[in-house]
Amino acid sequence: MAAPKVAVVGAGVIGLSTALCIVETCPSSSVTVLSDQFSPNTTSDVAAGMLIPHTYPGIPIHVQKQWFKETFTYLFAISNSAEASEAGIHLVSGWQVFKSTPKEELPFWSDVVLGFRPMSKAELQKFPQHRFGQAFTTLKCDCPPYLLWLEKRLKAAGVQMYNRKVADLWELHREYDIVVNCTGIGAHQLVGDKKLFPVRGQVLQVHAPWVKNFIRDGDGLTYIYPGIHRVTLGGTREKESWSLSPDPGTTKDIFDRCCSLEASLQEAQDIKVKVGLRPSRQCVRLQREVLSQGGVKLPVVHNYGHGAGGFSVHRGTAKEAARLVGECIAALQGSSSRAKL
Ligand code: FAD
Repeated sequence: MAAPKVAVVGAGVIGLSTALCIVETCPSSSVTVLSDQFSPNTTSDVAAGMLIPHTYPGIPIHVQKQWFKETFTYLFAISNSAEASEAGIHLVSGWQVFKSTPKEELPFWSDVVLGFRPMSKAELQKFPQHRFGQAFTTLKCDCPPYLLWLEKRLKAAGVQMYNRKVADLWELHREYDIVVNCTGIGAHQLVGDKKLFPVRGQVLQVHAPWVKNFIRDGDGLTYIYPGIHRVTLGGTREKESWSLSPDPGTTKDIFDRCCSLEASLQEAQDIKVKVGLRPSRQCVRLQREVLSQGGVKLPVVHNYGHGAGGFSVHRGTAKEAARLVGECIAALQGSSSRAKL
């Protein structure tokens, strides 16, 4: 069989990292990325890009931990390399603070991040409204640079990228042997997935170079995440809202909440507002499916629905999607050699 042609639909962090894992693990394949938007116009460009996992209720914890660990290990290696600055990856230390002691004092990811420990009384003095806290070091992706770095790696590996809106996955069956669906919230329309819903998030990006440590309120709603050039202030979680327009009242509310955690932010300059729709689901859809029409078959691998935690687990889910693509290639090669007999 000639090199199997694989189309990855979607160019957010999930599509690009999945395409890269396919190139790395299935070198005999020819990979193309098709997407109606590329960076800087994807949800992934809006994300804060912090590696603090969100919990998917429908997925066993050991699987989520594995995805997080693979992602952390991958990005940690980049953060220790000369590529770190171009890829926008850096280590960041800080605090997650709680108004009362949480039920789960040791989250499942506590031994993946670095130096996880309860905050000392002296550290907690910085947060007079909070009674308990956890200190740790994790990684942060500055999202647009990381997406551009992934695109650059793909181009260097010979992957073609085309601007194209796909109305139906079946339309690709004449041109490609395998299709990988990484369309994020776009899968709601593309494959009619009613279990997928948007959770709108609004964030501010500000110039406040003196803020070096992250601060996250334990409920995850208010956060201050310093990046290489700008600090992300969040946020909101509005289920089933499809609006991409920034709301000025929400901007003020986010700013006030963040200033109550870090008063010096009152001096922040150059406030930019961004909105994105988290592609949310009880569990990430990471599975094989075979579409079939009139006896013709098209193997599809789905990898979407990463909700609030796509950056935290992207490499782990991309590796699993690439493994599923490998299974599809093996099945195609098996059927083509049977056909020759
Ligand atoms: P997207 O980035 O939306 O990419 C989907 C791609 O598919 C796009 O390129 C789109 O153009 C393309 N597409 C869609 N439909 C079609 C079609 N029919 N034809 C062709 N192309 C199509 N996660 C973290 O881990 N840490 C964080 O700190 C964090 N912060 C966040 C803050 C906010 C405000 C938001 C909104 C999200 C945050 N997230 C965070 C979540 C993270 O952004 C998402 O989980 C992740 O970006 C999802 O990536 P994706 O590639 O699936 O989706």
